[in-house]
Amino acid sequence: MTTAAIIVAAGRGTRAGGDLPKQWRILRGRPVAAYAMSRFASHPAIAQLILVVHADDIETQAWPREPDATVVAGGATRAASVRAGLDAVGDNIETVLIHDAARPLVNDALIDRVLAALETSDGAAPALAVTDTLWQGADGAVQGVQDRAGLFRAQTPQGFRLAPLRAAHAAATGHETDDVAVARAAGLDVTIVAGDEDNLKITTPEDFDRAERLMRQNMDIRVGNGYDVHRFGPGDHVWLCGVQVPHTRSLQGHSDADVGMHAVTDAIYGALGKGDIGQHFPPSDPQWKGAASHIFLKHAVALAKSEGFEIGNADCTLVCEQPKIGPHQDAMKAVMAAYMGLDSGRISVKATTSERLGFTGREEGIASIATVTLIKT
Ligand code: MG
Repeated sequence: MTTAAIIVAAGRGTRAGGDLPKQWRILRGRPVAAYAMSRFASHPAIAQLILVVHADDIETQAWPREPDATVVAGGATRAASVRAGLDAVGDNIETVLIHDAARPLVNDALIDRVLAALETSDGAAPALAVTDTLWQGADGAVQGVQDRAGLFRAQTPQGFRLAPLRAAHAAATGHETDDVAVARAAGLDVTIVAGDEDNLKITTPEDFDRAERLMRQNMDIRVGNGYDVHRFGPGDHVWLCGVQVPHTRSLQGHSDADVGMHAVTDAIYGALGKGDIGQHFPPSDPQWKGAASHIFLKHAVALAKSEGFEIGNADCTLVCEQPKIGPHQDAMKAVMAAYMGLDSGRISVKATTSERLGFTGREEGIASIATVTLIKT
């Protein structure tokens, strides 16, 4: 069963507060829609990811980047937007999952339940049985009690076999509120699978708070350390944390020998469990001779991003008697922050001597240690 995921993000709703449509508002540092996009992109069963955005957003290219996602312009209604997504589905696809971009907390188990039900059904969708008592009310007073037996709260992703869904959309009247309604109007059976309370749809400002709380509970936090040493040789400057510092000698190395940047880079690789600079940029490879170390740092940052991690902070200590680091500290923080795409408040560069002890004390070289945290929500 080859499956495409269609993320519908073409709405203009601003009920959740702010000036931006809710799917583009920032939730814990990323647009709301980015969460569902990366969840489906990393799910092993999803062969194609389609993002349907508003025509205005197509022009401004205002959507989160997910490599390999197909981005299409939606229509005037939700159904028209879904049809635009269906038009972009590849020839090899047999089933589609249609998901609301405003549900950032969709998880793999929920996606798996929908896919499993599609093995034996033309349609499947998650839902939660209504357990609260349902009132009818008017003017702030209870007017009656509604029978809740057999009532469900519908969620997404809603999954369908592609061919029957396409036929159902072609025959739709335009009055259906979701794809299950479109499918049922065409006579398709839709199986209910267990939904998830956490798979909330962001609608109000309170929903942002709740989503943030839930994401904090599910956070994956990594810590990595890095250590590096370079020896002094002839020269008149050293590169430290991306800043050229005048000195009576230079650090020797295959690259520009930026010992601080190397320690931070290795700390990122360490937190990811993905080796070190030497593995990614072998010294035996002549193309890295004299290379600017920000190439290594940017690679590590991009690797962390591709694994779904954001950098929480980086703390780097330089161990040397000379040169004096203090006058360059702020510039180093600013340069490192720029390379890492972070606020400079999340970067620390500090220095210590080793009380004239050991190789750093004898001024034979400079050592550096660094710690980095990575956060996935
Ligand atoms: Mg090094």
